[in-house]
Amino acid sequence: MKVYFLGTGTSQGIPVIGSNHSVCLSKDKKDKRLRVAVWVYSDDFSIVIDCGPDFRQQMLTSKCQYIDSLLITHEHADHTAGLDDIRPFYFKQGDISIYAHTRVLKNLAKRFDYIFESENKYPGAPSVIPIEVKENESFKIKNQIIEPINVWHGNLQVFGYKIRDFVYLTDVKKVDQTEIEKIKKCKVLVVNCLREEPHNTHFNLEEALDFISLVQPKKAYLTHISHLLGFHGEVQKKLPKNVFLAYDNLEISI
Ligand SMILES: [Zn+2]
Repeated sequence: MKVYFLGTGTSQGIPVIGSNHSVCLSKDKKDKRLRVAVWVYSDDFSIVIDCGPDFRQQMLTSKCQYIDSLLITHEHADHTAGLDDIRPFYFKQGDISIYAHTRVLKNLAKRFDYIFESENKYPGAPSVIPIEVKENESFKIKNQIIEPINVWHGNLQVFGYKIRDFVYLTDVKKVDQTEIEKIKKCKVLVVNCLREEPHNTHFNLEEALDFISLVQPKKAYLTHISHLLGFHGEVQKKLPKNVFLAYDNLEISI
């Protein structure tokens, strides 16, 4: 199974529009971060987690040819605003299944009514098959079991996903002990890390590292990164030896 980091940036991406911050002006490719998403695939399945405003560019760069399903973590625009760009997959494959919390599906059906409606549809509009994800209920895509992990983004519930020995959590500020037990000692943990300064709804660096120590994965990758965290090359040097700063277009095998 492979995991391709489609985007590793926080909501505005890096560079931020109009910013003269030194990280935004960096020439290092690892300091360019599209909105956060991953593509998880093997010979048997192809799953994209989140569909933010950079989705089109991410699909072109990764050369992803086919999607079995989209998994959505939560409704915020940096995770969902690219939904219209599933059109080429829809034209090739038909309706695309989209897995999310019922609250998130309702939100998307309001914002993208032309994608979710079934009658009098505009012929060029894409179609989805909405599938509800429920806490503590694993589901299958092809033959692959997916386990939802319930986490908290401030007061907002967010789903992370565990696929085999890989765990993807983004936009996390708090995780209940019951959920930590489900992911303990996994092989690869991806978790959000915004910056060094504390934030109301995201782990900062210290909180992300404390969380990694609790989960004890073999390896951890940090994502959903703000330009305020610093230069990729400098931050990486400060991290424990099993913790890595993810970057766009990084691909790992699990
Ligand atoms: Zn986000």
